[in-house]
Amino acid sequence: MLNIYIAGAGSMGCRFGYQLTKANNTVTLLDEWEEHIAAIQSKGLSVTGEQEDNIDIPIMKPEEAEQPADLIILFTKAMQLSSMLQKLDHIMNEETKVVCLLNGLGHLEEIQKYVPRENILMGATIWTAQLESPGKVKLSGDGGIHLQSVEKSGESFGQELIQLFNEAGLNAEYDQDVWPSIWRKACVNGAMNATCALMDANINEVFSSSHGFTLIKKIIKEFVQVAEKEQVHLDADEIYDYVVSASKKVGEHYPSMHQDLIQNKRLTEIDYINGAIVKIAQKYDVETPYCEMMTELIHLKEDILL
Ligand code: NAD
Repeated sequence: MLNIYIAGAGSMGCRFGYQLTKANNTVTLLDEWEEHIAAIQSKGLSVTGEQEDNIDIPIMKPEEAEQPADLIILFTKAMQLSSMLQKLDHIMNEETKVVCLLNGLGHLEEIQKYVPRENILMGATIWTAQLESPGKVKLSGDGGIHLQSVEKSGESFGQELIQLFNEAGLNAEYDQDVWPSIWRKACVNGAMNATCALMDANINEVFSSSHGFTLIKKIIKEFVQVAEKEQVHLDADEIYDYVVSASKKVGEHYPSMHQDLIQNKRLTEIDYINGAIVKIAQKYDVETPYCEMMTELIHLKEDILL
């Protein structure tokens, strides 16, 4: 049986840790948040939402892990990825596979500084989760995962991983070209997250004004133009229609950047979403004024609030 570590046991790490453990896998959570570690070590991981449950699951700081890892599932926030990777070296060997399902762009460049490319799998997930308090995670709604090994030689492990995720009810699909899924997710986040955070608004409120529609359309257009330069083909109309139709289902929702910045006064992943578009666009001399402005305004708000 694979020895699995989840590196970053916040909302998503707890969801994956819970579901994989329930499917009889050997899973250890790694995190640095002392209160959360203490709560799970003393009372187990509590799950609320569509099901109520409590499981025993090992959790420790990354530095304390001793057994070699067969699989590491990364689930820090984007700006925490590098500091986490630096703490995992002692449990990685040449066989250790590492999967990244973080939101945003640019993670492969960071991971490959620490892990050989043939051991890396990249993907995107539309599962969600929310930590309610230390040791307690709320799970609701459906989701899925698209993933692919970075090198062709990693494909057979990729297929094994799909089976492992599916046995845990995580609804995973192997994708022969996962980059459009990763960019599409970044584009949806790039359109809605910063807008809701800056306006201190939920999705419905943004779409209650024609200015909201205009702004969202302009941001999507910039993502699609830059993706095209990177040989990733996205359909701006399809993404726009998706965002608008999603607003009818989850309009009351405050996206994660609103939760991070406005509700919890935490740094955001903006540099890996709109900010990443600005950076990539510079290589091609493409102008991305909307993404640039959103990135600057979010950093300004971070400086004001934090
Ligand atoms: P989170 O902030 O809830 O969890 C991150 C955890 O990593 C925290 O508990 C933190 O203590 C830990 N951590 C960070 N750096 C560390 C370090 N160096 N050493 C030890 N522990 C460290 O984040 P999340 O909401 O679970 O999101 C994780 C990723 O998944 C993000 O990229 C996010 O955008 C993406 N995502 C989140 C959701 C969601 O619904 N929450 C949905 C889809 C994708």
